Amino acid sequence: MYLYNTLSQRLEPVTSEDGVFRMYVCGVTPYDTTHLGHAFTFVCFDVLVRYLEFLGYRTITVQNVTDIDDDILKRAKEIGVAWDELARRETANYLADMKAINVRPPDHYPHATQEISKILELVTVLLEKGYAYERNGSVYYDIHRDPGFGELGHMDYPEMLRTANERGNLPDDPNKRDPLDFVLWQAAKPGEPTWDSPWGPGRPGWHIECSAMSMRYLGPQIDIHSGGADLIFPHHTCEIAQSEHYSGITPFVRYWFHVEMVMLRGEKMSKSLGNMLFINDLIGTYSADAIRLYLLSHHYREVWDADSADTHLTAAEDMRMRWRSALAAAGGSGEALNVLPYEAMFGEAMDDDLDTKRAIDHLDELADAILDTAHSGGDVHRAQIALRTLADVLGLRLDDENFGSTHSFDKG
Ligand SMILES: [Zn+2]
Repeated sequence: MYLYNTLSQRLEPVTSEDGVFRMYVCGVTPYDTTHLGHAFTFVCFDVLVRYLEFLGYRTITVQNVTDIDDDILKRAKEIGVAWDELARRETANYLADMKAINVRPPDHYPHATQEISKILELVTVLLEKGYAYERNGSVYYDIHRDPGFGELGHMDYPEMLRTANERGNLPDDPNKRDPLDFVLWQAAKPGEPTWDSPWGPGRPGWHIECSAMSMRYLGPQIDIHSGGADLIFPHHTCEIAQSEHYSGITPFVRYWFHVEMVMLRGEKMSKSLGNMLFINDLIGTYSADAIRLYLLSHHYREVWDADSADTHLTAAEDMRMRWRSALAAAGGSGEALNVLPYEAMFGEAMDDDLDTKRAIDHLDELADAILDTAHSGGDVHRAQIALRTLADVLGLRLDDENFGSTHSFDKG
């Protein structure tokens, strides 16, 4: 199998010496409802995991929850609930949404607030090694000590600074030596939750959380690290810097697998623009299979627009019904349908940088061939097993599904 690696910007053969893939995907910051863009990332990652297992590998998967963050504190204040209550509630909603669209839960699901001791260990070592400095109770990563900083993003310094500033960086923080230095530990601010540290009370920076959690559950080197393409810089760039200088082991990640953004009305689907399609709403109208077929009919590296979602979801629903008919077709004792070409084409598509779009086309051809063969009295038994097995790689259940809201409690 070949996958595109964001770091090398090339397709690379995917290999594993011990037959295991240690995989990490950056999870959500639980302060709002899961939209279609989030779902695209997690469904693509889910299919990658399923396909690697189909190929005979073992996987160990970790997904974090950033359950303490500026966004959570801000939103909790706006709606007048405790920050940890909001995080708990939205985490539960997120898990219900993922379950509803048949995304397999990760093997480990660490929460940032439960991992403070590992975070403190990383920050301490980075300070000891001289890659970080402390000022007024906050600790910063010193990008000038790190000539390789920023390789993943393929940006020059001005572009890095501009992008970081758009994504929450505080360039005017008087404690910083360079406006692009990023916070590893932030000193307590009035009214915010805090944890004790050698530098006084405070809370972790966002980037260090993922380094600490991936190290704790997967060791110093990850095989495949995933997340939305908007995390390439600064988040994943900072993860590499901290992790490699903490552990001394390079590369921190063997393959960077980034899933592109979903647009609506010409803009990236986002809370700030209010242009979102929520999974919780779609699941009341469409089957999980149709939602997955719709998402997976786009390549994971394609930026696409969900403007005509209803038309495409309706077509996906029709496709799903046709595949179900193919699975239920009686067939006869005539010549058996030869499935080898379909299995080969499915494998070629998936091996080619997880081309789910083409893989779906080939399964649709297989379903048509099953219906034709059954109609003329041929044997479709083996072909039906193949269709079910390969549909399962895409996480499609092809069963009777219950439609309806995934959230059982009031969302405030
Ligand atoms: Zn992360």
